[in-house]
Amino acid sequence: MNVVFVASEAVPFSKTGGLADVAGALPRAIARRGHAVSLFVPAHRSTWNSRQPITDTGLRLPIPVGARTVEARIHKSRLPGSNATVYLIDQPAYFDRAGLYGAGGLDYDDNCERFVFFSRAVLAAIAPLDLRPDVIHCNDWQTGLIPVYLKTQPHRFDGLASAGTLFTIHNLAYMGLFRHWEMALTGLEWRLFNWHELEFHGMLCFMKAGLVFTDMIGTVSPTYAREIQTPRLGSGLHDLLALRSQDLHGIVNGIDPEAWHPSHEPMIAARYDVETVAAGKAACKAWLQHRVGFPVRGDVPLLAQIGRLDPQKGWDLLAAIADRLLEQDVQLVVLGEGQPKYHELLQDLVRRHPDRVWAYLGFSDDLAHQIEAGADLFLMPSLFEPCGLNQLYSLAHGTAPVVRATGGLADTVVDANPETLAAGTATGFHFQDPTPGALWSAVERGLALYRDREGWMRLVRAGMRGDWSWDRGAGQYERIYQDIQRKLMARDSS
Ligand code: ADP
Repeated sequence: MNVVFVASEAVPFSKTGGLADVAGALPRAIARRGHAVSLFVPAHRSTWNSRQPITDTGLRLPIPVGARTVEARIHKSRLPGSNATVYLIDQPAYFDRAGLYGAGGLDYDDNCERFVFFSRAVLAAIAPLDLRPDVIHCNDWQTGLIPVYLKTQPHRFDGLASAGTLFTIHNLAYMGLFRHWEMALTGLEWRLFNWHELEFHGMLCFMKAGLVFTDMIGTVSPTYAREIQTPRLGSGLHDLLALRSQDLHGIVNGIDPEAWHPSHEPMIAARYDVETVAAGKAACKAWLQHRVGFPVRGDVPLLAQIGRLDPQKGWDLLAAIADRLLEQDVQLVVLGEGQPKYHELLQDLVRRHPDRVWAYLGFSDDLAHQIEAGADLFLMPSLFEPCGLNQLYSLAHGTAPVVRATGGLADTVVDANPETLAAGTATGFHFQDPTPGALWSAVERGLALYRDREGWMRLVRAGMRGDWSWDRGAGQYERIYQDIQRKLMARDSS
């Protein structure tokens, strides 16, 4: 099969969050199954520092954006260690910027224009590159217009007659909402701006556009697939998703074991696996304690959190239990950036407990690995979590996740209760209600088990034994691609 995968960020070229990890790893796993895979991403500024070999294809395409025509330059690279080709859509005016989607906590005000350009450039490039896709796999709102162009303007794009679409939701909370007059930038007919199609409460909604016009819908865990069909997590699109529930599939993300496994990560202090975790982790923990200026002690539980400092990640719950937590003999390391109020919260905690709380308020991939390897418990009390990757990285590193039982967290972490502990299947700690009390009782259970060395190591090893590679997920995506082809054939023959 020929698969074209489209995303707004992909490791190792660009990254703000989990989407980049998925877009850098899933196409490789699909390619390993024998398919021809091409990945399209914008050539963000970070692309040029990625140390990947990049060549200019020489292809230049005039892309209509509103009344203007903007040139797309197509560069080419490869996903490391695979034969998946990467096409980088280059237009410095749109993508040579410090942030991917915004700066200083605010979205760029030309994001509609930027991703209209990107979507149309991808579709325009497919024929000259002779890709002949069977499936175009779109991801999140930035690619939401691609299925609309394909369905409503098929005559405009060559080489796409037999292409079906899969649209994967990585986070429904980011919808790509724009003012109605920005419809003029899209080149789409105004008649599509109605509440069955592109309109959402008076705004132009790229996410809704993708969901309405795509052949199949994916999201990143079975529990999140159910949750987004309810008013609580459906972002106002729950009825649309429930209506299409037959086409909606939840597939848990994998992780890239080449990038995220303690047996060979170059940046951690000691390499270890499930057999050598006790000694390896002790070395990584001592290194981390030394690095952040904590007393180097093996017996104190080291808790960690990495990620966007955003209400979604449960930061208000963490703020509510912080004082109680720090009455215990614990250490806390945080890596993240986001909302100023959480920066202030962390700066205050560091000021009050300099020998036990440390925070790096920025982005550092090396530190993310070093913290996963050095911590004992990983706090992930998300209010919602489509899949979540950090709890998977934690499991791979023998770091026990404390999670709210929502979305992918519920699907990937096995709660430690008397039965799972006895069976040796427990891998972490769940709580249900989004309340400080419920989070606290899960943390307390974690700290109690930590003191039982034997029980703790059983839980750690059970987590490390899980297979979170992409092979399983890639097989599931392959079946959806085949279903899309069958659906198109049935439609063509009827
Ligand atoms: P989301 O995509 O909602 O932000 P995920 O848990 O799915 O959350 O993925 C987050 C990814 O981004 C992980 O790979 C995580 O390590 C990384 N990440 C998030 N914040 C930072 C940061 N400040 N520094 C380094 N890596 C980060």
